[in-house]
Amino acid sequence: MLTFDEYQQRVVAAARRLPSRSVAATDATDLLGLVTAEPLRSRVALPGFTNSAMDGYAVRAADVQGATADAPVSLPVTGDIPAGDTRSLRLEPRTCWRIMTGAPVPDGADAVVQVELTDGGTETVAIRSAVEAGRAIRRRGEDIEPGDEVLPAGTLLHPRHVPALLSAGVPEISVIPRPRVAIVSTGDELVEPGREPGHGQVVDSNGPMLAALAVECGFEVVAMRRVGDTGEEVRGALTELAGVADVIVTSGGVSAGAFEPLKLAFEGSGGFDFVKVAMQPGKPQGFGTLGNATVFALPGNPVSSLVSFLVFVAPAARVLAGRDPRLTTVEARVAEHWTSPPGRQQFARVVFDDDGRVVRPIGGQGSHVLGGLAGSHALAIVPADTTEVAVGETLHVIPLEGLA
Ligand code: AMP
Ligand code: MG
Repeated sequence: MLTFDEYQQRVVAAARRLPSRSVAATDATDLLGLVTAEPLRSRVALPGFTNSAMDGYAVRAADVQGATADAPVSLPVTGDIPAGDTRSLRLEPRTCWRIMTGAPVPDGADAVVQVELTDGGTETVAIRSAVEAGRAIRRRGEDIEPGDEVLPAGTLLHPRHVPALLSAGVPEISVIPRPRVAIVSTGDELVEPGREPGHGQVVDSNGPMLAALAVECGFEVVAMRRVGDTGEEVRGALTELAGVADVIVTSGGVSAGAFEPLKLAFEGSGGFDFVKVAMQPGKPQGFGTLGNATVFALPGNPVSSLVSFLVFVAPAARVLAGRDPRLTTVEARVAEHWTSPPGRQQFARVVFDDDGRVVRPIGGQGSHVLGGLAGSHALAIVPADTTEVAVGETLHVIPLEGLA
């Protein structure tokens, strides 16, 4: 039996970052959640032209020196410069232009007097306050100069990066692609979701659940299959999928029964390991490689599949994506006692209480209990040597929402 940490470290250590690829920067919204492979440097200055930070009047500061509310300075208004005005304009001494926020400042102007400090005139304007040179002006390049690094390599792209990305004048960006995940449900008892199961049959809920988890974690699901309990069917499906996926996740067929198709297909073949991990749920685990794909053979009970995906598949696939393998955990205090098996690290389904500071167990800890799974908010991590989880104890928990 391996400890949880030993097995998790083994699968994470085997993962390698995927090769980067160039993607059009205009696909920015498809890039969210991906990691940049190279630094992004701007090709342009930002702002690209000197522009007004306020609605007001473009002036020479020297022309309004000494202006006050009691002794305003009057200047003739040459015209209007709205945002989007593409003309190259000049300011003559002792005149002004009415200018809008974001509009190009005319040559010769060195300040903008905001409209609130004037009488708002359109022919002539009374300016009631002096301004220093540079007031309310955003200078070309004051934010970013050509060649400046806008995003370092390794940036996990988020909506806040989109403006810099799209404004930098760079047509393509180098990113690490989403890991491609294929899902295979095994079991002669499985029926397609939507069909009524007969006696002895169950709906294949793991396949869609694992696919949904993969999407939630930011991976791409490229295939979903359901296969029966023979080694040939499993080997056939996985061999085909190894050509299109970086990660293949199977559920079922790895425990100690008489017909365990993953074991029938791969046990004893090089590159595959079937192990027992000191955890609950999720004790039987299989791990191997097939061509360029990494295979995770997860146990079939839905709760075991979910936990195994989160603690093994997600961390390894995050490494493929160039990300930190660790999922977010938070600390919470135990509000109700429960038990944990000796010598096994437990991932207990819990609900949050008191704004997430407190957890209670839900639904019993059997790995087949679907109701408790649906009602749970998080997995509480109980160390292997703890058998009684006491009220008041603090545990690390993995929230089940916001996995990306
Ligand atoms: P196994 O790991 O194949 O022995 O399966 C353990 C339990 O999980 C059995 O009760 C299976 O019927 C159930 N199970 C396996 N695969 C699925 C699946 N895809 N959807 C729902 N239940 C499943
Ligand atoms: Mg099975």
